[in-house]
Amino acid sequence: TPTFAIVGRPNVGKSTLFNRLVGRKLALVDDRPGVTRDRREGDGRLGHLAFRIIDTAGLEEADEGSLLGRMRAQTEAAIQDADVVLFVIDARTGLLPADRPFAELVRRSGKPVILLANKAEGAAGLSGAYEAFGLGLGDPVAISAEHGEGLGELFAALSQFFPEDDDEEDGDEADAPGKPLHVAIVGRPNAGKSTLINRMVGEERLLTGPEAGITRDSISLDWEWRGRGVKLFDTAGLRKRARVEDKLEKLSVADALRAVRFAEVVVVLLDATIPFEKQDLTIVDLIESEGRALVIGLNKWDLVADRPGLLKELREDATRLLPQVRGAAVVPLSGLAGEGIDRLMQAVTDTYEVWNKRISTPRINRWLADALSANPPPAVSGRRIKIRYMTQVKARPPHFAIFGNQLDALPKSYTRYLVNGIREAFELPGVPIRLSLRTSK
Ligand code: GDP
Repeated sequence: TPTFAIVGRPNVGKSTLFNRLVGRKLALVDDRPGVTRDRREGDGRLGHLAFRIIDTAGLEEADEGSLLGRMRAQTEAAIQDADVVLFVIDARTGLLPADRPFAELVRRSGKPVILLANKAEGAAGLSGAYEAFGLGLGDPVAISAEHGEGLGELFAALSQFFPEDDDEEDGDEADAPGKPLHVAIVGRPNAGKSTLINRMVGEERLLTGPEAGITRDSISLDWEWRGRGVKLFDTAGLRKRARVEDKLEKLSVADALRAVRFAEVVVVLLDATIPFEKQDLTIVDLIESEGRALVIGLNKWDLVADRPGLLKELREDATRLLPQVRGAAVVPLSGLAGEGIDRLMQAVTDTYEVWNKRISTPRINRWLADALSANPPPAVSGRRIKIRYMTQVKARPPHFAIFGNQLDALPKSYTRYLVNGIREAFELPGVPIRLSLRTSK
């Protein structure tokens, strides 16, 4: 666990911040003699981050004469013991000459520092926060320790000093440059998957069949689209040779799952002349539960007479039937005629970008404040639910965490409201959105 020291001139709100992070009851008084005598240390928490925190506010009540000298010594000791310094200024007064010697101590220590412009509740003191740039200690984070505002930004700033959250596999490194995009084309038998893949990679590739050593059931084909490497996943039913005899046979869920797991983006290929069926919805459920991105391909478009009418209808169906990946691209194409493949691949790469998107914590919290005031969380059987802030904990797919109190009582309809709002505000169509609730004590 990292140790943070709260440092700054008297009266900027250090103790209030300390109490906010530690919780009054947990605050310990360290009674070792010397400069650390009055210093308070405690176990701090913000969201799921746990850390050690040292407050240097203990001497503010001391008599004037020796105050600055003793505070200076105490500050130096605290900085010495800390991994990271939280340097606090008062955003309402702006920078004062008294801030300078403390800033100087921090700078000289060479320790990493987070600059906090406190007392910035309700956007008060923004100019003070801007002035703080002049300290050369980085971008100030505007907070109000007393009112509990700006904690999302504070969380984001502190979290840089913790190892990556790895409660799930972190796919981020998988996005190395030059790594081929993994795409699976999945759909009912006879939707036209083989025809489409043939068209994409070229007949010969398919005729030469799978490379040695690759099982019959899982074949990946290397392709390139506009200079970008693409690995296409081919299920057993894709190849002429292994083609299922009975075209009415159902899609195998095991095959579909294997394809979905392989893929980053899954193209669900529909025969445009046959509307959505239960099997298609099953595939989309797999895509949602596996956290993959979705694009819908409407194949055999060459057979459709009323194109604008059908497209409109199928887009509406997609919105209604697939709320979990709302806004997924619906792309008409013809594998047989070789039409619409560029549009399909454009949608695939766009959706891949969405799947990888990261939204900054300040942006999310600005949005959250509006969403909460437009529609505050309900009280559930007398329990007051309080949502404090939100941050994106992961991408691939976008995963957000909400911090607050009594969140276990939050109705499903409310989390749906938030997820739909996030999807819309940050333009995240066609991907599952995860939301974790983290209740603080
Ligand atoms: P798969 O089972 O999904 O691999 O489907 P196939 O690729 O074997 O195609 C099934 C049938 O649909 C074949 O007779 C294809 O010629 C036909 N087909 C595939 N794509 C198209 C298309 O874009 N337009 C038309 N008109 N027919 C297609």
